[in-house]
Amino acid sequence: MKVRIIKGTNQIGGCITEITSDKGTKIIIDFGEELTDESNSCIDYPLDGLTYGKTKYKGVFITHSHGDHIGLIPNIKKNIPIYIEEISAKIFEVSNAFCSGKSFHGKLKKFKFEEKITIDDLVITPYRTDHSAYNSTMFLIENNGKRVLHLGDYRSTGYSGKTFYDNLKKIGSVDLLITEGTNVTNPNKESSTEVELKEKAKNIFKNYKQIFILQASTNLDRLRSFREAALETGKKFILDISTANILKAIDDPNYQYLNDEDVTTWVPNAYSKNNKSKRVDSFYSHKDSDFYQKYIEPFDNIKFKKEHVHGEYVMLVKTSMAKDIECNLKNYRDNAHLIYSMWLGYKDKTRPNTEKTREFLDHMKNLNIDEEYLHTSGHADLKTIQDVFEIVKPKKAIGIHTKDNTKLAEYCANYVIINDNEEIEV
Ligand SMILES: [Zn+2]
Ligand SMILES: [Zn+2]
Repeated sequence: MKVRIIKGTNQIGGCITEITSDKGTKIIIDFGEELTDESNSCIDYPLDGLTYGKTKYKGVFITHSHGDHIGLIPNIKKNIPIYIEEISAKIFEVSNAFCSGKSFHGKLKKFKFEEKITIDDLVITPYRTDHSAYNSTMFLIENNGKRVLHLGDYRSTGYSGKTFYDNLKKIGSVDLLITEGTNVTNPNKESSTEVELKEKAKNIFKNYKQIFILQASTNLDRLRSFREAALETGKKFILDISTANILKAIDDPNYQYLNDEDVTTWVPNAYSKNNKSKRVDSFYSHKDSDFYQKYIEPFDNIKFKKEHVHGEYVMLVKTSMAKDIECNLKNYRDNAHLIYSMWLGYKDKTRPNTEKTREFLDHMKNLNIDEEYLHTSGHADLKTIQDVFEIVKPKKAIGIHTKDNTKLAEYCANYVIINDNEEIEV
């Protein structure tokens, strides 16, 4: 078996991995764009045999629903199947419907965890991992007695941390490990767990009455931490409509907040049917009646009303909702606060496509709402990476999704430093 990192040995996001079996069967793992922001704009990455030319690949396997792993799949040739975990597929569909990204026209094949997929002489087994995207996958790829483990993005500090380690033990030793190294440039930093973050959130929530949360809709671990913190500090919880749709789609007993009495759904003016003709926000102007029927109307009975934004509440917001927040606070305001709960790169002015986030934060500042950073990484800290090496004892290992591919060689045995497009023999 051969492995080639087409893109990703020295960048975070947009990693593309090619696996070739001994008989020449080729698959791709992940086809996303380099990290930008929540606007999910698709920047084309043409790849011979995948997006144009004579078809070379038998399938594309997606580790999870983050844009930097899935964002470019609309560009894949229509005769190439795309394999994705069934719930991740639903999350991707909802996120796509709410964002302005291209619609998806590929051939989607949904899998369940631990169901083997055979393509010619390759056997691929998906396992659940722990990451800030719900139901993220790692892939064990077997060919001719050799085993490659592609971890995708992972950590061990979320609510699926134990499942992740249990699955690694089930998988056992591998010939090649492909690990992410997002946090290796900061090797001394240990990430706090979601449970620890929840405790910190409770301490903050106690000091304020209206708390706005800026976080990724698909980070359901984070949602759970904030939901539980709100419940335990006696505050109402107000979900934005796209997050509410994701909860509806995943139908997970651990995330049945939509039935709770103190939970309502936030439908800002930008989405509201009544204001449709008046609205100035062009971001949603292309939405048709199907969109309203499918994603807005089912929430009519728990939809947000003016009286919900009185008293104490925790509200999930998006960068497109600054005006709505301003209107709400005009009606009622008493000690408001903003929590920024995402990667700091999303507001870094040296990075592309961060304007919307920065504009939103400026708007909040102008409203005299203080901003506080509360976040823990969706990616493995060094200790977790070393634990993984300890469990799967790789004969060789390579790093992707990192700014510095050489760094892990200092800490992990059998680590091979590679460049993009270099082929590794397994
Ligand atoms: Zn990623
Ligand atoms: Zn990710």
